[in-house]
Amino acid sequence: MNNLQFLEDKIAELKEQGVYRQLPVNTGPCANVIYLKGQEIVNLSSNNYLGFANHPRLIQAAKAATDKYGAGAGSVRTIVGNQDLLEELENLLALFKQEEAVTCFQSGFNCNLGTIPAITEAGDLIVSDEKNHASIIDGTRLSKAERTIYRHNDMDDLERILKEKRSQYRNVLIITDGVFSMDGDLAKLPNIVALAKKYQALTYVDDAHGSGVLGRSGRGTVDHFHLHGQVDFIIGTLSKAIGVVGGYVASKQIVKDWLLHRARTLLFSTALPPAAIGATIESVKMLMESETYTQKLWENARYFKKALGNLGFDLGHSETPITPVMVGKESLTMELSRGLLAEGVFVSGIVFPTVPAGQGRLRVMLSASHTKANLDFAIAAFAKVGKKLRIIN
Ligand SMILES: *Cc1c(COP(=O)(O)O)cnc(C)c1O
Repeated sequence: MNNLQFLEDKIAELKEQGVYRQLPVNTGPCANVIYLKGQEIVNLSSNNYLGFANHPRLIQAAKAATDKYGAGAGSVRTIVGNQDLLEELENLLALFKQEEAVTCFQSGFNCNLGTIPAITEAGDLIVSDEKNHASIIDGTRLSKAERTIYRHNDMDDLERILKEKRSQYRNVLIITDGVFSMDGDLAKLPNIVALAKKYQALTYVDDAHGSGVLGRSGRGTVDHFHLHGQVDFIIGTLSKAIGVVGGYVASKQIVKDWLLHRARTLLFSTALPPAAIGATIESVKMLMESETYTQKLWENARYFKKALGNLGFDLGHSETPITPVMVGKESLTMELSRGLLAEGVFVSGIVFPTVPAGQGRLRVMLSASHTKANLDFAIAAFAKVGKKLRIIN
């Protein structure tokens, strides 16, 4: 008897639905081009917004940190895994974010999983945007607080919930992405902060796609909206624009004191490796030195969006370098993705259940690492395949 038959059945079902996939294998670094099956392909799908993932300065810093501190942290932070390099990174990030303190985790996902249950408990209410990231949903599930969702970016709906429920709970925590990853739109942060004040709620912004992208030198969505000191928990990732791996909470010192005692992903999972910490410190220093990286990112994003818009593609309502190319039907979405790959351009198709049924799209991620030649090459491929599939005229 095959006791894994239940998985055989589930996989067969995925294949029937046409959503079973094999992972692409890149045989080189994550950069403006990648190598799939020996072929050079223009990469329009990474979160490597600033081109830092393969930057010589980060590589050098990773090597230097490894030479001095070794390959692994050897323990969780609360035992002997708390190397001074990690403290240096947290202090630098706090300075960069203009917040009192920063607490680092091993990833953005881990950060939400550890932080949300640590700062909420039975008798509290979590109010979450319906389009929030999976790690927020899972972090919320691990909390003993009650939870409810408001319609995406709908401030009337958020206020309705606060008005109706505020008095029944001790703490109410409003959670939102800063930048929504599938559409590239921004949270209405000034309104959320105002509502939080009016109803005495706490605010939690996961700025994974805003870090290194929005605000002065990529200081994030809170900086973009001039809301320093008014958001209680600002989450960032070190895995996207920053180019390495890790996540963090920027907050008041008292929040850090508490997380160091109660965030379970920090207490029970080994600290970041020295190479990652060293590279991240370099990355933050580069952002603090110069705006050239973020400026190049936005310049590339504007150039590409304008060209695709002119070709007649529907680009949704993105306000950031995340550029959804709306297609609609799931099968047509995947056909466009395959057609572009045949032309030497990688853009992953995003379909149900990641986005609602009938809202299939390609999600183009621009980067400062793209050359104008890369972008023109990709634009020509979009024109050719888009016409062939009659997505544009
Ligand atoms: C990508 C993302 C994460 C996860 O970050 P990692 O560092 O890759 O684990 C968390 N939250 C949001 C909103 C994200 O977009």
